[in-house]
Amino acid sequence: MSTSDNNGRPPYTAGTDYDSIIIGAGFSGLALLHHLRGIGQRSLVVDALDGIGGTWWVNNYPGVRTDSEFQYYSFSFSKEVRDEWNWTERYPSGAEVREYLNFVADRLDLRKDIRLNTRVAGARYDDAANVWTVQFEDGTALTAKYLISGMGVLSQPIWPSIPGIESFKGEKYHTARWPREGVALEGKRVGIIGLGASGIQIVPTIAPQCEEFFVFQRTPNFIVETTNDKVDGARMAEVRRDYDEIFARAAAHPFGVDMAYAEKSALDVTVEERDRIFESKWNEGGFHFANECFNDLATNHESSELASEFIRKKIREIVKDPVTAEALCPNDYSFNGKRVPTGHGYYATFNRENVHLVDVKANQITEITERGVTVGDTEYELDVLIFATGFDAMTGTLTFIDIVGRDGLVLRDKWARGIRSNLGISVNGFPNFFMSLGPTTPYSNLPVPIQLGAQWIARAIAFAEKNGIERLEATPESEEWWAAEVERAGRATVMYSEGLKAKAWFMGENVQGKPAEFQVYMGGGGVYQQFCREAEDTGYASFLAPALAVETAAV
Ligand code: NAP
Repeated sequence: MSTSDNNGRPPYTAGTDYDSIIIGAGFSGLALLHHLRGIGQRSLVVDALDGIGGTWWVNNYPGVRTDSEFQYYSFSFSKEVRDEWNWTERYPSGAEVREYLNFVADRLDLRKDIRLNTRVAGARYDDAANVWTVQFEDGTALTAKYLISGMGVLSQPIWPSIPGIESFKGEKYHTARWPREGVALEGKRVGIIGLGASGIQIVPTIAPQCEEFFVFQRTPNFIVETTNDKVDGARMAEVRRDYDEIFARAAAHPFGVDMAYAEKSALDVTVEERDRIFESKWNEGGFHFANECFNDLATNHESSELASEFIRKKIREIVKDPVTAEALCPNDYSFNGKRVPTGHGYYATFNRENVHLVDVKANQITEITERGVTVGDTEYELDVLIFATGFDAMTGTLTFIDIVGRDGLVLRDKWARGIRSNLGISVNGFPNFFMSLGPTTPYSNLPVPIQLGAQWIARAIAFAEKNGIERLEATPESEEWWAAEVERAGRATVMYSEGLKAKAWFMGENVQGKPAEFQVYMGGGGVYQQFCREAEDTGYASFLAPALAVETAAV
């Protein structure tokens, strides 16, 4: 039941501290807070970190920047923010994105409803009261009718289980927990384990500072290099003028980017034409290559392999030492088998004399000693060891804490049998619990589904409040339908077989013991948004769990 207080403030849920509690003060938390305020909710954002920005606050390793171009890596909903914020680089640095999110928080006056340094230990739903109690690590608790996760998709870092990892006496850092004050690397022997999107950004950035730099590579990535031009006033003005169109095109695009749609298969052109197209999109850089060359690099194995061979050729051209070049070429899986990172001089870094690639695929790291890393008979002595070993993606933050739904059901236990949700937004057994970017939301440039998801959740809650619907909760049928659609769409792509071969995070394969299943929806952002619209158009029928469907049918 909703009521309102005597001070002209928005309605609030009787008997609770807030209408909604949002976990996470990154892109998701800010968008959710803004939109829930817009429907009159009294909301609180809590975040364990000591600053606003979520993933962009905590991943402040050297070289961190977006893999997406600035014009679709931001919110479109606020005219004030759009008019006043100026991006300075085609691929903004992590520091600039952090500043942007803090600017958003200030400009939209969000800060007063954000509580930092507040780590959630767990949350429990009380069915009789229809209230969520959020328990904090400091022993305090708050209640709300709605609980919303904006905890991020790649936020639960993984330290590898290499024997002796604790014994290393030098400095040891994870890219996702990089010290805010920075790390002095000059004159030091540095090693890095992990060469996904994080590792490949830090490598070229710190290589000039290190005395000797040992890069321990297990699985090479296909990296599409790019250039990072400055964004001037004229370019900003152009983007501002077209912002709505840019966002609309990104929202309709499978990968959430404003890019052209390739019309042809890589198999339907001559060898010369194919090379010309590959070359031109390689020169545009970053995600342009994966998205704009051909229409089947993600769906046809032969086409994906042709793209693989083109990138292998580029690696051999850039890297002067043929043995190193060959080791950098992925051969065990093909293009799109791992999330393709955007490079900023990654391959050329291996032409530096102080940079040494250590192939630990066949000859694995046997242990970490107090002095360094041992591979076979060789011990590499190090002063600093960096882990860029990734995350327990999509589910990790949600299963790390105890989220307890109806009848004591723990989300972690429910998902141990396989991820189940309706559209990655709501889970049966967890009424009035919503997820921004929950598992099985699209494999995408993320600010786009974050904004659309926050707006969707706000409309759903407004609808429920207006129509006296006390609980929004995925029906069991919707969960089975969505799981089947996620599986169908995923298996129609090369990401399935190649992702399994490459042990990609989007298959859950990078975490020991995690069941192999799609962590994201591969059917495309535009298709996903259509499903979300359909759910809305049917009065959220698939979010009214059976017992309630009867009760609300007359509304
Ligand atoms: P990741 O892609 O999962 O890469 C982890 C790396 O650690 C892999 O190279 C993996 O090797 C290696 N590794 C793990 N355990 C190892 C061991 N015992 N021995 C040797 N190597 C080991 O993680 P990430 O680079 O942090 O990126 C995760 C995702 O975050 C990205 O795909 C992207 O979606 C996002 N991200 C985005 C940006 C951006 O947009 N700018 C930047 C960073 C991250 P194997 O492959 O052999 O397992």
